[in-house]
Amino acid sequence: MRFGAEILKQADVLATFTEDAPRLTRTYLSKQHKQAGVYLIGLMRDAGMTADFDPLGNIVGRYEAGVPFAPVVMTGSHQDSVRNAGKYDGLFGILSPIACVKELNRQGRRLPYTLEIVGFGDEEGVRFPATLIGSKAMAGLFDPAWLDKTDADGITMRQAINDFGGDANKWRVLDRRSGAPDGEHGDVVAFVESHIEQGPVLLNEGLAVGIVTAIAGATRLRISITGLAGHAGTVPMGARQDALTAAAEMILFVESYCTNHAGLVGTVGIMSLKPGAVNVIPQDVEFTIDVRSSDDGSRVNAVNAFNETFAVIAKRRNVAFTSNVFFSSDAAPCDAGLQRQFEAAVVAHGIAPRYLPSGAGHDAMVFPAVAPTAMLFVRCGNNGISHHPAETMTAEDAEIATSVLLHFFEHYQPPQFSASSAQRVDRHI
Ligand SMILES: [Zn+2]
Repeated sequence: MRFGAEILKQADVLATFTEDAPRLTRTYLSKQHKQAGVYLIGLMRDAGMTADFDPLGNIVGRYEAGVPFAPVVMTGSHQDSVRNAGKYDGLFGILSPIACVKELNRQGRRLPYTLEIVGFGDEEGVRFPATLIGSKAMAGLFDPAWLDKTDADGITMRQAINDFGGDANKWRVLDRRSGAPDGEHGDVVAFVESHIEQGPVLLNEGLAVGIVTAIAGATRLRISITGLAGHAGTVPMGARQDALTAAAEMILFVESYCTNHAGLVGTVGIMSLKPGAVNVIPQDVEFTIDVRSSDDGSRVNAVNAFNETFAVIAKRRNVAFTSNVFFSSDAAPCDAGLQRQFEAAVVAHGIAPRYLPSGAGHDAMVFPAVAPTAMLFVRCGNNGISHHPAETMTAEDAEIATSVLLHFFEHYQPPQFSASSAQRVDRHI
């Protein structure tokens, strides 16, 4: 085994950099983020790369191309975790390409592009009220207002970045879009991310890897229902304005609608009711809906259907309701050409190509703003559980996925002499 066993061992080491052992929690700009970064930078350098932290605490390694003025293929994933996390979410997407570079370097091989591996400082958004901080900075989507946001201890992101050893004022230089300030590092021509699936599709079909078609878009709604409180013993059943039974009917509609429309998933994850007494009819109920699809149209249709049906339910039950969208993001499609190149790499390993959407968000979802983007999924054991200590990956699957990724890197040909790379040659002359 060339890669798998070693990657799992490295993931075990990284799991020791945690804020609440024996659980695994590693948040952005924490001491453990620094420790994990130092460890990953060491692995990158041992593999033949130059590597360091960038001004926002992302871990960046470069394996320089074999030719001058070459473009950049970027790969990577996040170093941070949710609270009480698994060991492979994010980390696999950093460790697997490092293993690829180590192998290329051992063979003395350079690629026709510079391979850049990034361990994004934040993807999960656990510490500050922002997510995908590192990848958004690279995609030109960093919001400087985030710097004044505070964590639970009242520390601003600006302070935390500077205490970490970074430089909060330099967020602009991370922008890697074509024509952005960071021209010196070369144009990014592709972004690819390898990641544990975090679901059971590949496991159920007996496949080690799969090719992601798109990262699902999501809409989050807050539904408020107002009925009328009343005595549980005296108000006749036919005369009630029970906000909770109205909510129950609405929630079951969300479930049945998403069950009957392929590609949709809908979840009610938060709910509260008032007054909340055993002998009082519920008057005020609030709940959230998270609905996702890799098809933006079907997600929009779902939200419209929810609102229309909720209005009917509310009228029949004599309650009032409001529906507010508090988060919305469109689906991020993966590049068709890169998907085909992953398919070739998967087929070369004797595996049937399986295309699947990603229901979870990933760093890759912001990179279409920078370059064509693709993702490779790796089978997730234990019924596909993730964001949980029971998340597992076998050494055999880590081996296959890394070998597929290496095949992709070995065969990827960057677009020749783009206008901007020609300009860069001029600038250097
Ligand atoms: Zn992840």
